[in-house]
Amino acid sequence: MTLTTPEIYKLLPKTNCKECRANSCFAFAALVFKGDREIDECPYVDKKSIALVKKNNSQHNSIETEQDKLLKSLKDQVAGIDLESRAIPTGGTFSNNRLTLKVMGKNVAIDTSGKIFTDIHVNAWIAAPFMDYVINAKGTLPTGVWSPFRELPGGKDRYRLFEQRCEGSLKHLADTYPDLFEDLMVLFNGQQVHDHYQSDISLVLHPLPLVPILICYWKPDEGMASDLNLFFDETVEDNLNIQQVYTLGAGLVTMFEKIAVRHGISTTCPVH
Ligand code: SF4
Repeated sequence: MTLTTPEIYKLLPKTNCKECRANSCFAFAALVFKGDREIDECPYVDKKSIALVKKNNSQHNSIETEQDKLLKSLKDQVAGIDLESRAIPTGGTFSNNRLTLKVMGKNVAIDTSGKIFTDIHVNAWIAAPFMDYVINAKGTLPTGVWSPFRELPGGKDRYRLFEQRCEGSLKHLADTYPDLFEDLMVLFNGQQVHDHYQSDISLVLHPLPLVPILICYWKPDEGMASDLNLFFDETVEDNLNIQQVYTLGAGLVTMFEKIAVRHGISTTCPVH
């Protein structure tokens, strides 16, 4: 299991001293997670934590290699299908040899060679579910019945990983970055909805046309810790297999973490 940005952050002193040339400890943790910086560039991390993160990074690199192989295989599969016939089941449009889908309000297109065209940064964790969806989505329309990941038919076995990598990381981000939900609405066409599970904030995103995600966040209150859950439409596995549902969740959280770092999370990280 690989360490997430918040887990790397927990190993840092959280003084935001900037001696590592990052704007904050959280920004530094995000750079270490991406592999752009080494954990021992912070002079205050103990040897045990350095060893833990280095071991984690070598596992992370082998996952990235697997991910690259998967992307190549998906690209080859896209090249072998009739892309025009995929417009209806994916909820997209086809023209000029490209299938275009709305990904959180933005156009993302793929051509018959499997090349992706978009103005937004699509990381490998989002590209894989996108292509899998293009190839395999059945076109089942969402019913509006929300289900937590663990109650999806294939979700039980992967829930612990999903909870850690997706829900846990996003909760940490919501706790430390107050503009998160506003950014999701402005940048990614997030739609606020009301009264879901009595949460303080309920927001729906559409990372793929027939794969909506409901984010529910409960703020900390009177000694109670905050909480955050992600919900999927009960039909989600008709359109995206469960492994790719997990990958999509992890990809979105990675994208949101980068935005938070870019928008100066340094001023909001708590000093413990
Ligand atoms: S990670 Fe960077 S900002 Fe945080 S304590 Fe270490 S040197 Fe200072």
